[in-house]
Amino acid sequence: MDHTQGVETCRELREQVRRLTADWRSTGRYTPRSDSWLRSFDLEFSKELAARGLIAITYPEEFGGAGRSNVERLAVTEELLRAGAPVAAHWIGDRQIGPAILRHGSRELQEEIVPRIASGEAVFCLGMSEPEAGSDLASVRTSAEPVDGGWRINGHKIWTTQAHRATHAYLLARTGRGGRKHDGLTEFVVDMHADGVSVTPIVDLAGEHHFNEVRFENVLVPAHRVIGEVGAGWRQVVEQLSFERGGAERVLSSYPVLVELLTETARQGDDRELYALLGSLVARLAVLRRLCFEVAGAMDAGQAPVQQAAALKYLGNAFEHDVVEALRRTGLTREAGPDSVFGEALLASPAFSLRGGAAEVLLSLIARQEARS
Ligand SMILES: Cc1cc2nc3c(=O)[nH]c(=O)nc-3n(C[C@H](O)[C@H](O)[C@H](O)COP(=O)(O)OP(=O)(O)OC[C@H]3O[C@@H](n4cnc5c(N)ncnc54)[C@H](O)[C@@H]3O)c2cc1C
Repeated sequence: MDHTQGVETCRELREQVRRLTADWRSTGRYTPRSDSWLRSFDLEFSKELAARGLIAITYPEEFGGAGRSNVERLAVTEELLRAGAPVAAHWIGDRQIGPAILRHGSRELQEEIVPRIASGEAVFCLGMSEPEAGSDLASVRTSAEPVDGGWRINGHKIWTTQAHRATHAYLLARTGRGGRKHDGLTEFVVDMHADGVSVTPIVDLAGEHHFNEVRFENVLVPAHRVIGEVGAGWRQVVEQLSFERGGAERVLSSYPVLVELLTETARQGDDRELYALLGSLVARLAVLRRLCFEVAGAMDAGQAPVQQAAALKYLGNAFEHDVVEALRRTGLTREAGPDSVFGEALLASPAFSLRGGAAEVLLSLIARQEARS
């Protein structure tokens, strides 16, 4: 595709998403909110996007995708986030599990799972973190032992977003011991309705239930549900994290706050300092969007842009934090309750630099990669 065609296609896709979200919003089918990709769950909306070919957009057509580029996907995700649309049902599956299975999964697993992500039928949660393995993810203790026809899973995951609504979990488990802790890890797809899976809610600072603890007690997983190579889970999950960290949600999850800041700055008119602050935020946003497009371009080139994605997430989180703080300067927030645009974003903001990898961990990853290059 040449550049002009790419721009035109992206424009059409953006228009399509804008029309759809405007229609749903104007008919009261959703209210825009910050952090919608994690908190705003509506299976019907995800299925509507799927029916219009707006999720699984990069997947091959034979698996129900649209065979488009990651750059085009980025145009769609930017518009959905700008609209604060209810996209949590498909976000994780579409963003990283489909691509991981397409890169590493067996043909059988691809045929079973990928079309179901593309249709909005399979809802995924991410079973990576454990009570003793957050930043130090390679320390996971959840175990998978080989049994006749598959694997038996035992363990405990935590902070598992939308596990209470998911049909499937991506699971990182230990299949081998001895040697480096990074060795002997394996990725699985587990049915959330299988015997032995139990989910307990965790309520966050805002009083919302979006993440959970998940326990696996002698859960049987068929052999073909291994993603890729047994024991090579670490290499694969690092690659997957570039999909998790390198998207527009690391920059635009508090977009409704930026809109409010814009409106209020214009209304107050003569506050030059506020204008200067807004100007610097908009300039940072422009740089971050370029970085998003670079990451998407690298994915289109078949790379796993681990370092750029970490940099994007680190800088994007800082930007989002500053947007929320900037609104405070307008005075508009003095009366704002927890359900206001500001209140919702403020209560969500401590998690920005934790989820998907803590800020300090991203910095050391970036530094290590730099030292290697
Ligand atoms: C809203 C939200 C949603 C989440 N959803 C999911 C999900 O769906 N699935 C999932 O698997 N996980 C999920 N997580 C978990 C997330 O990935 C972890 O919180 C994150 O990896 C940090 O791990 P931890 O909470 O155990 O913190 P810890 O690892 O205990 O770290 C706490 C702090 O210690 C410091 N620290 C730790 N290690 C280092 C280091 N090496 N160098 C310097 N400083 C360090 C950092 O300041 C860090 O913030 C979610 C988290 C949040 C907040």
